Amino acid sequence: MRGFLLVVAVAVAACGEELFVGARGAGGVNLPLSPSQVDFWRGPTKPNLPVDLRVPFRSLQAVKSFLEANGVAYSVMIEDVQELLDEEKRTMALSRRLERSTGAFDFASYHTIEEIYGWMEALAAAHPGLVTRLQIGQSYEKRPLYVLKFSTGGAGRPAIWLDTGIHSREWITQATGVWTANKVGASDPAVTAILDSMDIFFEIVTNPDGFAYTHSTVSNRLWRKTRSVNAGSSCVGVDPNRNWDVGFGGPGSSSNPCSETYHGPYAHSESEVSAIADFILRHGNVKAAVSIHSYSQMLMFPYGYKAAPAPDRRELNDLAAEAVRDLAAVYGTEYTYGSIIDTIYQAAGTTVDWAYDNGVKFSYTFELRDTGRYGFLLPAGQIVPTARETWPALLDIMLHALEHPY
Ligand SMILES: [Zn+2]
Repeated sequence: MRGFLLVVAVAVAACGEELFVGARGAGGVNLPLSPSQVDFWRGPTKPNLPVDLRVPFRSLQAVKSFLEANGVAYSVMIEDVQELLDEEKRTMALSRRLERSTGAFDFASYHTIEEIYGWMEALAAAHPGLVTRLQIGQSYEKRPLYVLKFSTGGAGRPAIWLDTGIHSREWITQATGVWTANKVGASDPAVTAILDSMDIFFEIVTNPDGFAYTHSTVSNRLWRKTRSVNAGSSCVGVDPNRNWDVGFGGPGSSSNPCSETYHGPYAHSESEVSAIADFILRHGNVKAAVSIHSYSQMLMFPYGYKAAPAPDRRELNDLAAEAVRDLAAVYGTEYTYGSIIDTIYQAAGTTVDWAYDNGVKFSYTFELRDTGRYGFLLPAGQIVPTARETWPALLDIMLHALEHPY
């Protein structure tokens, strides 16, 4: 992957597979680049919101000339993506050596799926009365879909669903998931009140095939989708956050199997998605669902697939305001918040819209750090701070669900 570079520009809308660039009120112009030539880390959304674009060195001059010719401002955020990838690998190797010598899991490091699955098993073994590792299904490549269940009571209690890593390249999310699950398992006093009457279910590696793929070689590190084979196409994978049966196939998702936002052949075609949908429906008493992504520093709630306000909009908005305030109080990290469609873009077929339309009132999605300085390659030194600051926001949502039964 040597030679990639990230450019930030201002744009207004994605037009098919091309970038539609709004040049300051001018009519806009099309940037004729296919998804194989550039990789949108943050896609075009609305006027004056930045777009992050990873551009191969061979296309760099063409892209720069194009942006300049059309009066679109841009800046370089990462001179060489490869340097960050090399650094990430070095840091992981160092941490692994440390773990071997101390025998302790290093929460400040990124881990492979084997390491995380092993850690989940160890957590359950260490807290037999509280934590169980359930298998809710199988991935396309037949990896187990594991969920940690935190429960101190009997069956049928109201529950909270948490997931991280549905987009595999968003490594800060799985790492935050591990730290957070550990916090819940350690019976943090704030969590005790919740666990006294609710169960917490936590899927940390929600897209295991994609995640294993991002670890397989450095050139696969930025894989986002599942790894299912698409009939009639050489392009692999479905965007599992466009595959849900809610506004399926609508705006903000693509019918092109080569697109990063390909919605799949039909709703819930991905076993990674249908396993969660079946689990939540079968459970029947899930009160809050939080699906964690990166990056952009946002906290959002339904809807994403339509402009109509969610019936609980006011309550969801007030709770989001409280959560981002408490998050910012830790290290000053600023989040924006609001409905998905107002805050980021229209997107059909997402987890939280599906959860909300299937009776889960407190449905939220996070976009964790950062805002593009490192993007998906957030240095491991930011894992614990990110998890720490996210914790009070998660607690706000969980406590609110506890205190506002419905
Ligand atoms: Zn994501």
